[in-house]
Amino acid sequence: MSGKACIAALIMMAAASAHGAPAPADTIYRNGYVYTVDATDSVQQALAVRKGRIVYVGDNAGAARLAGKATKVIDLQGRMLMPGLVDGHMHPQSGGSRLLNCSLDYQNLTVPQFQARIQACIDKDTRSGAERWLVVVNWFQQGMLPDGVETTAATLDALKTDRPIIVRSSFGHSALLNSKGIHTAKIMRDTPDPAGGKIVRDTKGDATGLLEDAAQDMAMNLLPPLTVAENLAASKAALAAMRKQGITSFLDAYTDPETMTAFTDLQKQGKLTARAHFAVLIDLDKGATPQSAVAELLKQQKQFDQGPTRVAPSMQVRHAKLFMDGVISAPAFTGAMLEPYLVNKGTAEKPDWRHGDSTGPASYFTQASLKTTLTELAKARIDPHIHVDGDRAVRESLDVIEQLRATPAGKAMRPALAHDEIVDPADYPRFAKLDVTPVLSFQWGKPAPDTVGALKDYMGPARYALVEPHVQLLDAGARIAYGSDWPVDPLDEWFALKVGVTRTAAPDAGKEYAGRLGSQPGMPRAAALRAITLNAAYTLRQEASTGSLEVGKLADMIVLDRNFFTIPDEDIANIKVLQTVVGGKIVYQAEGMR
Ligand SMILES: [Zn+2]
Repeated sequence: MSGKACIAALIMMAAASAHGAPAPADTIYRNGYVYTVDATDSVQQALAVRKGRIVYVGDNAGAARLAGKATKVIDLQGRMLMPGLVDGHMHPQSGGSRLLNCSLDYQNLTVPQFQARIQACIDKDTRSGAERWLVVVNWFQQGMLPDGVETTAATLDALKTDRPIIVRSSFGHSALLNSKGIHTAKIMRDTPDPAGGKIVRDTKGDATGLLEDAAQDMAMNLLPPLTVAENLAASKAALAAMRKQGITSFLDAYTDPETMTAFTDLQKQGKLTARAHFAVLIDLDKGATPQSAVAELLKQQKQFDQGPTRVAPSMQVRHAKLFMDGVISAPAFTGAMLEPYLVNKGTAEKPDWRHGDSTGPASYFTQASLKTTLTELAKARIDPHIHVDGDRAVRESLDVIEQLRATPAGKAMRPALAHDEIVDPADYPRFAKLDVTPVLSFQWGKPAPDTVGALKDYMGPARYALVEPHVQLLDAGARIAYGSDWPVDPLDEWFALKVGVTRTAAPDAGKEYAGRLGSQPGMPRAAALRAITLNAAYTLRQEASTGSLEVGKLADMIVLDRNFFTIPDEDIANIKVLQTVVGGKIVYQAEGMR
């Protein structure tokens, strides 16, 4: 330091102490591309943290004034620092437990490779008895090599084990059993196909081991529920996966007491590394009334909710999950639609797609029962998180919310409509007008088996052009939030953001999935980031303390290995998180971050 600068610094320090010097920061990040998600999406250079909160955002010089003897100074070397990701809809427990299963990792495998991978799982698990199911997940059934090769029970019977085996396809529509599995599931030659499912049979009529759609339940229903230890391991695995992705808050969009118990236990061990929110299911199917269902939710809230957000991650139970319909894709067609699904009245070679008879099921809540339920929830200050896939489910939910908004309790409600895979254009502006947040899974907005294969023909060209209406809702003024719906897809928020921006599949997805989905543009990058930070935080009533990097907010933030805003579109999928910070505490650090 030159003599003059030194004197200047001394004068400044004197001035500061004369007015009460600011307490030094615990940590200072400097020389960064600090993307704040503040009101103007401003980009700053430096940020300082004290006691888990952000005490300064601005330039290096300003941050330097908060440096004390014990302050840790991190030189970002130009790297991007941004708010931690907020995942507004996921299923951490099933996601976590799948990470613990025997996984084929969505890979293209030959039959010998397929067998070797599963044998390795069997050999590793020496503690399970002969009756315990081996569950194998993430099988890329369509990607078996060479093309068209068959897999049957015999493929699995060749393995050295007495255990029943179930191999689940990554698309979720089929599962393969070994002979012990077929036997255990009591599937005989005369066993009829269940409604909505198919037992694949050979020419003699015997089950080959492949079960399609609802038939999978014949084996799935036999799998024992997770034990306490397995639940704990699943939440642990889920949190580890979240830290690595940069997720600092999440909503479990359909929880149960076992899951919340596991997260509570982890928290007691100091291992809760993300702000955990839980939505309890409201289901009027089994004789429950809106009143009794909400009372049950409040009972679970009383047991597990830990009050408002604080510096250390905690648990909150202030959401209800409701299902208005199922899924719009083939072969389920359980999405509630305004117009009928199309059916092929021609042949496979010469298709002739016409309007069929079905618009999907009646919504799972009638208008009256939805209104009563939302009223009860509003009185209890619980926010509804409603699954809506088809455009009729969307409209009917908006209709009821509109009525609720006219009541005093309904004004304060923060309703979220999850998925919104197809929305009638007349309803686009209603999201903003009624202040309803669409919670979208950006990664679904690409050509893929579940769009090109399972939607295109059944929707017809006009509706297919409008599926996954992310940018339409944005342009109509909606507050878009993001939710991964993990483990429907692998947990990969950066790939999801790349799809959100491009509406294209991964480059190696195959020729049939090249190009964009529909004619709409992708989301602007800033809007995509806002959806997965501040807007998702809004749905958790946490936007005052998280979701952006602003003074006074909690230091929930991530450092990226490359700049989301300056790299080419495709490269967004390759972003790696170098450091994840929750409440000022580093919970994840990759190699390459000092
Ligand atoms: Zn979900």
